[in-house]
Amino acid sequence: MNTPPKSDRSYDVAVVGGGIAGLTTALLLARGGRAVVVLEAREVGAGTTGRSTGKVSLLQGTKLARASRTNPPEAVHRYVEAGREGQAWLRHFCATHGLPVDGRDATTYAVTETGERRARRELEVARAAGLDVGWVAETELPFPVRGAVRLADQFQVDPAAVVRALRADVEAAGGVVREHARVRSVDHHDDGVRLRLTDGEVRCGVAVIATNQPIGLRGLFFARLTAQRSYAATLTSPWIPEGMHLSADDEVRSLRSVHEDGADLLMVGGSGHVTGRGSAPAHRDALLDWAVTTFAGAEVRRAWSAQDQSPASGLPYVGPVVPGDHRIQVVTGFDKWGLSTAPAAALLLAADLLDGTPPSWGTALRSWTPRQALAAGRAALANAEVGWQMACGHAQRLLRHDQRPLCTHLGGVLAWNDAEQSWDCPLHGSRFGTDGEVLDGPATRALG
Ligand SMILES: Cc1cc2nc3c(=O)[nH]c(=O)nc-3n(C[C@H](O)[C@H](O)[C@H](O)COP(=O)(O)OP(=O)(O)OC[C@H]3O[C@@H](n4cnc5c(N)ncnc54)[C@H](O)[C@@H]3O)c2cc1C
Repeated sequence: MNTPPKSDRSYDVAVVGGGIAGLTTALLLARGGRAVVVLEAREVGAGTTGRSTGKVSLLQGTKLARASRTNPPEAVHRYVEAGREGQAWLRHFCATHGLPVDGRDATTYAVTETGERRARRELEVARAAGLDVGWVAETELPFPVRGAVRLADQFQVDPAAVVRALRADVEAAGGVVREHARVRSVDHHDDGVRLRLTDGEVRCGVAVIATNQPIGLRGLFFARLTAQRSYAATLTSPWIPEGMHLSADDEVRSLRSVHEDGADLLMVGGSGHVTGRGSAPAHRDALLDWAVTTFAGAEVRRAWSAQDQSPASGLPYVGPVVPGDHRIQVVTGFDKWGLSTAPAAALLLAADLLDGTPPSWGTALRSWTPRQALAAGRAALANAEVGWQMACGHAQRLLRHDQRPLCTHLGGVLAWNDAEQSWDCPLHGSRFGTDGEVLDGPATRALG
């Protein structure tokens, strides 16, 4: 139930964002006796969580090998431990709320030589990080593969059902969930925090920004994250997988089964790209064409897209917005694996905010650590590309006298996304509807 706007009401904690990160954090804090409000710009789950492909796996494509480029082995090991905790938390939550948990093996498979090299590296890093992974030459996939990394006993969920149950539990624990409450700014005020909304304001002791791409400029998170948009679809298909599969090839493809409207369907995902760059319809069509040609007789039933944040450091960011500012916390950077790592991030934040003992694996998720320096090169490259996009966009706009609108975050020239009828920013991934309203942050203001 939505509570009407009030400017005079004060909470211990205001959580901005009703995805898995925000709702899990809110639930843990409400269970811990804190007065909590969740402020969600649209409806809970309307962001990435409700549109994810629902795999809850510790084998995450080639994530660990990529993270190991900018993190020491100890941090990668702790990231796996964090995921294990988050995954166990979610498994227990689903079990105690009557939500189906479909146990599945997960694979990272390779079709190409490059994919095989990456998958074998993932095997090595995953083993060193404590995962009981093995190499298999044969898989159930109905096309030739060079082999795959396999991890048993992972699972898949319906993420929209998880979000609904989390919301109900937040409210049952005394928390308040406000939808259609877009937060414009989060600032210190007296000895607490003031959040300005489109209509009114909320005051609290601590604010947790769980908006996927953090809002606000403090902490410069937008410069440490890259918004990655990707596509998914369900199909009727004669072939339905038993396991959950993800390719290590340049052409990333995700596969799982899903039970929807009484039918067993094939779910595919992939074709990721930086939001606002390249042709969204071409990316979407590449995935759909691949699916219908690879699985003879398959027909697309439903297709959608969403975006998540890839952190320059390779691991999520959890903690104060800037070092030492414990009143404003940020949680982000799940790199398309938030279903297991966001609950871990919430457990870490809750330990911090409820004065508990932080888990030993928490260091892998901390925002401000010396190991972030290892990622400075990657962040610099990403920002150089952002600068280039900014310059090219404005030059084209001037030369062609075009009327493309400017992003309300940092003034990037927006690109028209014909696949979703939206204006997308190639700088930091903000998106706007045809009515100018914000669809995805970091922007908080509609187009003028
Ligand atoms: C196509 C796709 C498939 C994926 N599949 C998987 C998978 O199989 N397994 C897995 O583990 N992960 C997967 N992921 C990643 C996973 O979905 C995300 O990591 C996770 O959902 C992120 O959760 P979140 O709470 O951080 O963000 P979100 O779910 O996006 O929640 C953020 C919320 O904040 C709200 N918000 C934004 N700005 C404001 C504001 N100013 N005021 C108030 N509210 C605001 C948004 O409306 C949104 O509801 C996938 C991602 C994509 C893109």
